[in-house]
Amino acid sequence: MTTEELLQYDREHIWHPYTSTTDPLPVYPVRRAEGVYIELEDGRRLIDGMSSWWCEIHGYNHPVLNQAVEKQLKEVSHVMFGGLTHRPAVELARRILSVAPAGLEKIFFCDSGSVAVEVAMKMAIQYWHAKGREGKNRFVSLYKGYHGDTWNAMSVCDPVTGMHSIFRGCLPVQQFIPSPECRFGEPCREEDMVPLAAYLEEHSESTAAVILEPVVQGAGGMRFYSADYLRRALELCDRYDVLLICDEIATGFGRTGKLWAVDHAGISPDIMCIGKAITGGYLSFAATLGTNRVAETICSGEPYVFMHGPTFMGNPLACAVANASVGLLLEYDLEQMIGRIERQLKEELAPAASLDSVQEVRVLGAIGVIELKEPVDMGKIQAEFVREGVWVRPFGKLVYIMPPFVIRPEELRVLTGALIRVVKKM
Ligand SMILES: *Cc1c(COP(=O)(O)O)cnc(C)c1O
Repeated sequence: MTTEELLQYDREHIWHPYTSTTDPLPVYPVRRAEGVYIELEDGRRLIDGMSSWWCEIHGYNHPVLNQAVEKQLKEVSHVMFGGLTHRPAVELARRILSVAPAGLEKIFFCDSGSVAVEVAMKMAIQYWHAKGREGKNRFVSLYKGYHGDTWNAMSVCDPVTGMHSIFRGCLPVQQFIPSPECRFGEPCREEDMVPLAAYLEEHSESTAAVILEPVVQGAGGMRFYSADYLRRALELCDRYDVLLICDEIATGFGRTGKLWAVDHAGISPDIMCIGKAITGGYLSFAATLGTNRVAETICSGEPYVFMHGPTFMGNPLACAVANASVGLLLEYDLEQMIGRIERQLKEELAPAASLDSVQEVRVLGAIGVIELKEPVDMGKIQAEFVREGVWVRPFGKLVYIMPPFVIRPEELRVLTGALIRVVKKM
């Protein structure tokens, strides 16, 4: 198949994320990838600014991760998890739980981030069911939040940028409160907590859990908010007897400069979802962590088990590569590594703030965001970035990067330089 034929077949038969099948924008064919470089079929090399959507933190084609997959491949690639277990799953569980926020002592492995969110929500429902509190079956989340594309995950995504109008009538109706106005690094004022406090005051009897992305609201708007908010939200949840679910799928594994975003607040939620960077971007995999209290309560009442068990639960290949990836990460001096990226992003993106087309520039950890005043022309901007030799995929008004942690200063400079030049042209 020539590259032309490949692209034509793709255009005629394959769905891409959030893309028209009748009038798709061009896709770029990738031949291989190594380190921070994505190489296209025609030989062009692009510096990756996206870590393939938060995942590829160690860069592509990493020798340690490759070796973990190859070794596991020769032992066992997959085996059912019902009634069986294996070394990769146990070793991964032990490694993650040893560094998880205090109190999270049980782990449920699953296939993807959205499924981890479904699992977390089911855990919360079963928790109250086991306690005989059937009425506690609603979820509260934040405007501008994002928790995945499956049914219940979708129900707690921002109702405007999410897909609620299309699916109105079939989505479970959840409650939304304004996303925190208090910014990262600043304390939270009493009035910032009023919406959540007022809601819980009135509706705790029907509320199973609050679900939110700690500190960074990702796909719903790339906003950073005060860690203080999290601390106070947990206090409110405890006061009103409501569970707190933290969705660390994007923020987990170091992206914000701490291993977990909840570490900025020094809190532990009742349930926590992790995914994305867990396998260093090698395989689709995720997990939902819970406290002993959550697990024991669920199993103390009808039907005495947690009702979920995906076919590929605990897949050995995924566990092995995740174990290698988390192992690598824990060897890094994370605060220093992410701190360096953060300083460079702040310095090199700052000039964008004075451009007419730019609303705001913000940086947290290894995340750099240029928010424009108007939505980008995707086809045009994408082609500009490729011409600059970088891979950046904006959405709406947001032009942002979250590079692999291993990116070198001179490579990051190419990325930020391209960002500024391209934004200037828009
Ligand atoms: C990406 C994401 C999800 C969904 O994960 P998938 O693996 O795409 O299903 C859920 N929550 C957050 C915060 C995410 O960033």
